[in-house]
Amino acid sequence: MSLLEHDRGPPATAAESDGSGVNAAAVAGHVKALLFNPKAPTVTTGLAMVPGLVEVHQCLMDLRGYLRSFSRGDFSVDITTRGVVCGMVKSLQANLNHVIWQMEQVEAGDLTQRVDFMGDFSAAFNSMVFQLDSALTALRNKERELTAITEELRQEVEKREAALRALQQSEENFRYLAEHDPLTGILNRRSFLTQAELQLARNTIMDHPSSIAIMDIDHFKQFNDTHGHPAGDRALKHVAEVSGSILRPNDIMGRMGGEEFLFFFSKTNIDQARRVAERIRERIADSPVPVDHGQAIITASIGVVSFTAHREGQSDGCGVLEQAMAVADEALYRAKAAGRNKVRTGAFIS
Ligand code: GH3
Ligand code: MG
Ligand code: MG
Repeated sequence: MSLLEHDRGPPATAAESDGSGVNAAAVAGHVKALLFNPKAPTVTTGLAMVPGLVEVHQCLMDLRGYLRSFSRGDFSVDITTRGVVCGMVKSLQANLNHVIWQMEQVEAGDLTQRVDFMGDFSAAFNSMVFQLDSALTALRNKERELTAITEELRQEVEKREAALRALQQSEENFRYLAEHDPLTGILNRRSFLTQAELQLARNTIMDHPSSIAIMDIDHFKQFNDTHGHPAGDRALKHVAEVSGSILRPNDIMGRMGGEEFLFFFSKTNIDQARRVAERIRERIADSPVPVDHGQAIITASIGVVSFTAHREGQSDGCGVLEQAMAVADEALYRAKAAGRNKVRTGAFIS
């Protein structure tokens, strides 16, 4: 349906439709109806006779069609009608279409768009785009600030974590140094006693016997004098490694000081402890120590004692360890006296 057909209404009046009484009032009435009535009038036979009226009628009908489209938001209608009024409508259509395109550009992120041909609308549009641009710039600056703060925080956390790791590491190093003999890497006397006390408490609860051995390298002064102090140090490490290789997981070994070593054997009675001590002694005697230009045989003497912490009114093992060590030391003295490279046992303490 064409715009004309759509708008077509009933004839203007009965008086003009009979073809005889066409006058200026009828023409004016028709034009008025075209301008003001919702339904446009049709051109009667009489009015069609008035020169130029059909042309004016057509032009006004076209205008009504264009403006109706605009009022519905459709600016795509093809304006073909000539004349200054339709030319202005066409120009309005072109401006509106251009502004729509500019809005699409803004939507796509081009905030440089400005309108300068639409009066107040231009000012409002330009102000809106400017505000958008400012808000976006402020947001981007905030985002940059936040990113910088986040990065700073991340670096701070990393720094603190590294410091914490270093602290933990130095604590571990410190603890290791405090508990171990620096030359051989085995427990020092104090840590040996601490761990032996713990193991003794467990054995006591389970009613298991415990044993202690003290080992002293034979003629070590002479070894040092013959091969030099550095070779003596290597010999001490060698003895610690050879002895340690024989022990079970729950056994404990420590360096008492100088060329003396301590052993704690869990769940071990005196016969078993003596056998382990013999194995340690044999292994040391059978494993020559590398020295300058060759090897040197080294031997050790061992005193062993077996004991339990179960005593009347005392179950924590307190003092028993020291007592056991004194007995083991006495047995060691006898091993030395018997010619060295020997194992001797002390009396069972209970
Ligand atoms: P014995 O058979 O009676 O035990 O004789 P010994 O020579 O082994 O005993 P003595 O107590 O006379 O000498 C112990 C030697 O151990 C003297 C000392 O220089 C040496 N010694 C102690 N600690 C170390 C050490 O860390 N490194 C070295 N190389 N030697 C050590
Ligand atoms: Mg000694
Ligand atoms: Mg010695």
